[in-house]
Amino acid sequence: MGSRKRWLPRIALVLLITLMGGILFLEVGSYWYFEGAPETLSLPLAAVCDPEVYPPDPDKLATLEGLLEVRRQGREISPEELERALVAAPQADLPYRNGVFCNGIVYISQRLSIPARRYVARHELEHYFQFQGLDGGCQDWELCATWEAAREYPWGFLTTITSSLVESFRLSPSFWDFLFSSWKIFKIYLLP
Ligand SMILES: [Zn+2]
Repeated sequence: MGSRKRWLPRIALVLLITLMGGILFLEVGSYWYFEGAPETLSLPLAAVCDPEVYPPDPDKLATLEGLLEVRRQGREISPEELERALVAAPQADLPYRNGVFCNGIVYISQRLSIPARRYVARHELEHYFQFQGLDGGCQDWELCATWEAAREYPWGFLTTITSSLVESFRLSPSFWDFLFSSWKIFKIYLLP
């Protein structure tokens, strides 16, 4: 018992130093890797956001407007309502993204599994609510959209993270690109 008591603080200290060291490494590494602009994401333009290629569907716009009322009443958006509101597009039309809200429409990638698809659609839908003034006083729209969607679709949240990491690993030109990009994305979506 006595020796375990002595070891526990040491183990905790080693874990803490490892964690701090890891964060410091990722911070300094991504700062160096992205040449001092670690907080911005420069993504190629998505075809779904070009109204010439994807003219906004009036039925979807009307469905979203209906969901605004659901949200105002404080009711949760059901998976069926999400399915009716979203537009699924080929991955190539939303490069490096799982989903995007643009021109008033929620677009999600066809690559996603059903749980991930719902999580992503709910996240993008939250951006619609935010633009409509229903952000509940939120200061960090990305973070709020993530948590709002994760609360309703926790399993979709986890599968989205996993599939995003796999996809990012597949597309990254190098391991360092994968590592530092993932850290950057983690900070944007999950840290205040
Ligand atoms: Zn977002």
